[in-house]
Amino acid sequence: MPYRSELVFASARVRGHMAALLGVLALLGFTARDAASQAPVRLVVFITVDQMRSDYLDRFANQYEGGLARLRRGGAVFTNAFQDHANTETAPGHATTLSGREPYRTGIILNTIGVPDPRAPMIGGGGPGASPWRFRGTTLIDWMRATDSKSRALSVSRKDRGAILPIGRGKESVYWYALDGRFTTSTYYADTLPTWVQRFNDRRLPQHYAGSVWEPLLPLSAYPEPDTVAIEDLGREPAFPHTLSADTARATRSFIAFPWMDEVTVRFALEGVSALKLGAGPAPDLLAVSLSSTDAVGHRFGIASREVHDQLLRLDRTLGVFIDSLYKLRDSSTIVFALTADHGATMPPELVKPSAEGHSPVRVDVSDLVTSFFRKLVAAGVDTSAFDYQESVLFLDPEGFKRARVNRDSVARWFADSVKHVSGVARADLFSEILKADTLHDVVARRWRHAIPPDAPVAVVVTPTEGSVWGSANPGVHGAPWDADAQVPIIFYGPPFKAGRYDAFARVVDLAPTLAQALGVKPTEPIDGHVLSDALRTGRR
Ligand SMILES: [Zn+2]
Repeated sequence: MPYRSELVFASARVRGHMAALLGVLALLGFTARDAASQAPVRLVVFITVDQMRSDYLDRFANQYEGGLARLRRGGAVFTNAFQDHANTETAPGHATTLSGREPYRTGIILNTIGVPDPRAPMIGGGGPGASPWRFRGTTLIDWMRATDSKSRALSVSRKDRGAILPIGRGKESVYWYALDGRFTTSTYYADTLPTWVQRFNDRRLPQHYAGSVWEPLLPLSAYPEPDTVAIEDLGREPAFPHTLSADTARATRSFIAFPWMDEVTVRFALEGVSALKLGAGPAPDLLAVSLSSTDAVGHRFGIASREVHDQLLRLDRTLGVFIDSLYKLRDSSTIVFALTADHGATMPPELVKPSAEGHSPVRVDVSDLVTSFFRKLVAAGVDTSAFDYQESVLFLDPEGFKRARVNRDSVARWFADSVKHVSGVARADLFSEILKADTLHDVVARRWRHAIPPDAPVAVVVTPTEGSVWGSANPGVHGAPWDADAQVPIIFYGPPFKAGRYDAFARVVDLAPTLAQALGVKPTEPIDGHVLSDALRTGRR
């Protein structure tokens, strides 16, 4: 209590004034301690690390010294947190982060039916076009703007879905990386690129990395992982060093699988903060940054690789520079950070030892069965537009089956019964049964329930055995409803949060309402998440 000594020696008259002043402050809800420790939040910085498993936070902790070290040491760290849905992919995961809602409510259920939109081409060309047209409902920036319409958002990522979905449908400043080396947006958001984006692109930073060599950051003794595992990079270049093509056109495409993509994304974000004066306006602003190199490196080399280890060390350093730079641009007491991931990843089955009972995870291939099933449907007169199988979801359009006079339910049951016999399949559930399942005790059913809107034309959902992965030969795979793919870090950092490790069950849908509480704003629609109040300082009494 800083006023104490003055109060002790003050005259009765002055003491009376002080008491009156403190009384007014108390009425307004402030105390001297609040005023000192909690300046109003002016900038929310939300970081998604694509494919960051929860255990990466501790596994390499003694070698972190940058941003991850800072957030881990000084933040509220949730160690038992999940993307609590099936289809643990990039688009569903990003849509969940700042909406506080699971995919059954956001409508973003798979990557393939996430943001692609040919009606919204990218400015300057490239890609199929992208927009949030499939996204339902609101996100944190909408809630902030409902309180004060002067709040603004900037969202950047290597991936279109990584930039678009944390913002939802808002026409904010949303940019992603075109594979030709530029950051751009789509016509959903704007007709032209602003000057600051054009200037950044004119610097041709990705092109300057052409021919660069990725070597481990630390001496080799710092990496316990073997570096010549045959499955890494599908055997092409399993060991360090990794060289980016000297040809600039090829380099800007391959660039995305190197740690430097994160560095350039962060530099672009910082440029945007300065150009848009984010965090210096009349209302709190939002900066969302999704960093994708961890995902690309994870897919290429697998979660146990020396490359993933090095990628995380480099991410730590990049985030360190990012936080330091933001603190130079804005008052650190007015910034809050949150970090999570869109999904985790599974160990390559080839590297898993059989369990005591002799079970081994496998790569599961249901393509033969799906092909013969579809042939039967065509032979029965069902139009090809009435069925589809994507990832592990069987879509059967009820109208198409009615027109063909084929019983949709019995066809779905036949498929579910057949696919169960494929090696590596744990279960195949009718979606109608999932909607009635015990979602408290059956975690897999709950995650499927959270993954798909009840009105979607989904007939069957297929789950691999724990540790098994779908078809792809990629070392790194995710997408299953098991914990390896669902468990992710959640960290809050900044004056409103109490540092510490929290092992209570938490979900990524809790992140947005918790940030909203710290900002003093409220969701404008029903959400799935709850405020993680243990992590918040009460501050006001
Ligand atoms: Zn992802």
